Amino acid sequence: MKALKHFTLSWIAIILFIGLLFWLYEQTTPSYERVDGEETVSELHPDVQEAVDTLIDRADDIDIEVVITDGLRTEEEQETLYARGRENEEDIVTHARAGESYHNYGLAVDYAIRNHDGEVIWDIHYDGNNNGESDWFEVADIAKELGFEWGGDFNSFTDYPHLQMTFGLSISELQQGYRPPVGEE
Ligand SMILES: [Zn+2]
Repeated sequence: MKALKHFTLSWIAIILFIGLLFWLYEQTTPSYERVDGEETVSELHPDVQEAVDTLIDRADDIDIEVVITDGLRTEEEQETLYARGRENEEDIVTHARAGESYHNYGLAVDYAIRNHDGEVIWDIHYDGNNNGESDWFEVADIAKELGFEWGGDFNSFTDYPHLQMTFGLSISELQQGYRPPVGEE
């Protein structure tokens, strides 16, 4: 009888241990599908594209014209951008090398504003709709409502034009080939 009890307890311990391992695995692994890491992304993620379209419409409603200056970036384009300010005298614009930016996975865009003279500007203080708030920050607020993370909130490298949707995926997970789901209604 005592031996049987011991046997049962051992099994309970083993099952609990396996359960714990499984739980840890679930915690650390994205539930998304993994694709061949070589597969290159050729367009913005549809959810990002939809949010960008909504952002442009909502900004237009309050008399702000948003211009998308950059979206999907190939690895070559990323490397060219990375070289700026390092191989020439310009300002450094990114700390991300190829594959290290959400732009490389169709999950980020950069915006600017077209002022009433028709010029594309990067002036974060411009208040073209005259409501006492900077247009740039108004756009950022709408973008955040739509689920974007805004580069203006980044602590390490503040990037005012930058908007990204991560879907909970880190850059290292994206580099391993994990991709957010597409077309789930
Ligand atoms: Zn960006």
